[in-house]
Amino acid sequence: MNKQSIYGLTIDQLANWLTEHGKKKSRAQQVWEYLYRKRVTDFSEMTEVNQACVQLLADNFTLQTLQEHIKQESADGTIKFLFKLQDGNLIETVLMRQKYGLSVCVTTQVGCNIGCSFCASGLLAKSRDLSSGEIVEQIMNVQLHLDKKGQGETVSHVVVMGIGEPFDNFENLLDFIKVIKDDKGLAIAARRITVSTSGLADKLIEFTDKGLQVNLAVSLHAPNNELRTRIMKINRAIPIEKLMKAMEYYVDKTNRRITIEYILLRDVNDHKQEAEELAELLRPLGQKVYVNLIPYNPVDEHSQYQRSEQEAVLSFYDTLKKGGVNCKIRQEHGTDIDAACGQLRSKQIKKTEAK
Ligand code: SF4
Repeated sequence: MNKQSIYGLTIDQLANWLTEHGKKKSRAQQVWEYLYRKRVTDFSEMTEVNQACVQLLADNFTLQTLQEHIKQESADGTIKFLFKLQDGNLIETVLMRQKYGLSVCVTTQVGCNIGCSFCASGLLAKSRDLSSGEIVEQIMNVQLHLDKKGQGETVSHVVVMGIGEPFDNFENLLDFIKVIKDDKGLAIAARRITVSTSGLADKLIEFTDKGLQVNLAVSLHAPNNELRTRIMKINRAIPIEKLMKAMEYYVDKTNRRITIEYILLRDVNDHKQEAEELAELLRPLGQKVYVNLIPYNPVDEHSQYQRSEQEAVLSFYDTLKKGGVNCKIRQEHGTDIDAACGQLRSKQIKKTEAK
C-alpha cells in the first residue's frame, strides 16, 4: 500500500499523530523544521531528531508522492511542471516570475467536473481529489527546484487556480492552506495566497466563515445566465443570482476584495453590451471587486473559441472603467510553451493514448 505524504499533515495533526504513537509532541516542531526550513528529501537527513521517531515516520509516511515527468521552461522564466502521481495520473503545476515575487499555481484535482467549455482540463472528467499532501508537495517540488539553483529564491505567492475546483476538495484545501501558511514552515502569508473558484456558492459561504484572510477569485466569464451556462455548465446548477448573494456575503463579512476572472472569447462574451451588463451586475459589490480580463489562449480541443481582437479587449476594458469597475488586462506568462491551463497535461495524455 502506498504511504501517505507527510506534507499532508498540519503541525497540529503531526503532533497528535506523534503522541498517539508514544512520541513527544515537541518532536513535531523539530520534524517540521526539517521538512520546511532545511527541506530534506529523505527521513535519514533528520539527524537531530530522535532516531526511533525518524524510523517511525519513515515506516508510515513518504516525502515523495510526486515525480517530475516533464518540465517546460519559457523565455520569460515561467516553468510548467508535469508531475506523475503514485497512481500514474499526471498533474500540472506552474511557476511564474511576477514583478512582486515568485508565484506558484497548484492543481487540486485530477481532471475537473465543472465543465468550462473553453478549458483543456474540463474535457477530462475528475477522476479523484488530490490529497492535501499532494497539493503541498507541488510547492515543495518547485521550492526544491529553486533551492538547487542556489540563488536563495523562495516561493512567495500561491494561486490555487490550476486544474480542478478547489471548493470541491474543501477539507484538503483547508489543510493545504494551514500547512503553507504556518509561520514555522513555509510561512506564506495569507494575503499572498489566492483561491479561485468557479462559483460553488454554498462552499463560498462556508469558506467565508472560516475567516482565513486569503484572497478570493471567482471565475465569472459572462454577465448573464444564458451566456454563462453556455460557457460554464456549472451555471445551470448555480445561477449568477445565487453566486452574487454568496459574493455579497463574503464582502460584507470579510471586507475584502474579490477578483472576478473574465476570459475574453472573440464574438462570444467580448462585446460592449456584455461589458455594460457586467458593470451593472457588479454594482452592488462597489469597490470590493476587481475584474481581471484574460485574453484567451486558443487550444486545439476548443476550436470554436478564438482570442478576442485587441480592439475588443481595450473597448471592453474602457467600458468597464466608465462603468466604475476596477479592472486590468492580465499579463500573460509562458506564451511560448503550452501556456493554457491543462494544455501540457492533455497533450501528454493524448500522446500516451496514441502509443
Ligand atoms: S477552468 Fe478550472 S473549473 Fe473550469 S473546467 Fe477548467 S479546471 Fe475546471
